[in-house]
Amino acid sequence: MSDELRDLIGTEIGDRAAAWDLEGSIPLEVLRGLGAKGALCAEVPAELGGRGLTGLENGELTAHAGALCSSLRSVMTSQGMAAWTIQRFGTRRQRTDELTRLTQGGLAAVAFSEPQAGSDLAAIATTIVDDGDEVVLNGHKVWSTAAAYADVVVVFGRYRDEAAAVVVPTDTPGVTVRPVPQPLGCRAAGHADVLLDDVRLPAAKVLSGTSQSLALLTTIALTYGRLSVAWGCVGIIRSCLRAAASHARTREQFGKPLAQHQLIARHLSELVVAEQTSTRVCEHAAGCWDNRSAELSGAAVLAKHVAAGQAAHAASTAVQVLASAGSVDGEAVARAYRDAKLMQIIEGSEEICQLILAERALEGVA
Ligand code: FAD
Repeated sequence: MSDELRDLIGTEIGDRAAAWDLEGSIPLEVLRGLGAKGALCAEVPAELGGRGLTGLENGELTAHAGALCSSLRSVMTSQGMAAWTIQRFGTRRQRTDELTRLTQGGLAAVAFSEPQAGSDLAAIATTIVDDGDEVVLNGHKVWSTAAAYADVVVVFGRYRDEAAAVVVPTDTPGVTVRPVPQPLGCRAAGHADVLLDDVRLPAAKVLSGTSQSLALLTTIALTYGRLSVAWGCVGIIRSCLRAAASHARTREQFGKPLAQHQLIARHLSELVVAEQTSTRVCEHAAGCWDNRSAELSGAAVLAKHVAAGQAAHAASTAVQVLASAGSVDGEAVARAYRDAKLMQIIEGSEEICQLILAERALEGVA
């Protein structure tokens, strides 16, 4: 099953990732085609219309996409995070309706961040207010990945005394999707701000139909996102390792291949270490996902932190090995260099992951 999706993703991306990066967009028919095969949220169970991949299978699929095109992988992460939030918090009816749409070509994004709520999601100010059998949303979401392509955005906001996640169709009056101009990396991932101005929706769009703890909602959604980003980073590292090894084998300086210069060999060894350590922490977290382990949320933070740091280092190392050959827009390692940096910011920055890991250590659970 995952081999079929792997081939499909490989075929759809082909050699087009660099062009999509330069253009800043992926053709919508590519995304809808992959979505209609369930490839963008492949962990959704078969009974809900999905492909029912395990955490490990979905992780390796995500790494495969990440090695080829981080922008497309970012769209997968957003779609998967939206699907997981619906799966985890939706009523039976919401799961059936919304997830069926997402496994049949519909596209989704998630929106937590706001101008004053970046690392500090407790500062979310978007409001969701009851009005008869409807709710009214007002707020300003920023940097929602894939929102430029999305049919729906899962919006997190204040509801009653706590919080809620609402499935907001992007064609609802009052919704404005404003693409982020020229992002540093993952340029074709459709990052956009989402403005909500008196957006009126049936109350049935509020997941679970009731209010929840904001911390619980965001942690559950982010745990999927962290795992997915971590696997995406494994993909970045694998592509950097392949590119650096290939270049070091063939490029000669001082009368011999670069690989025979010991300092370059050391760079290659660091790339191997990055690939192995990142894969192992991701496998551990995916095992926690599959076993429904209580360790999952900590394992996902650790995987994301290790893999993002290693990917940023690996991409920088690969550019160093290729030197001028890797210093051109359109080169895979140059793209990896920009994309990997952003992985240290999203789904909990380096610092936020470190704070969570330290807190766990102090609680004696790390
Ligand atoms: P800030 O929170 O202002 O932080 C600035 C710096 O200070 C960072 O280095 C941070 O680590 C550090 N810092 C903050 N607080 C502390 C602290 N207590 N201790 C130590 N250091 C601290 N958001 C969404 O909702 N949905 C998306 O799909 C999405 N996709 C994104 C994709 C990309 C490529 C990017 C760049 C962002 C995306 N975001 C998304 C937003 C992302 O979640 C935030 O950028 C991130 O949470 C950091 O917030 P900030 O940029 O406001 O930085």
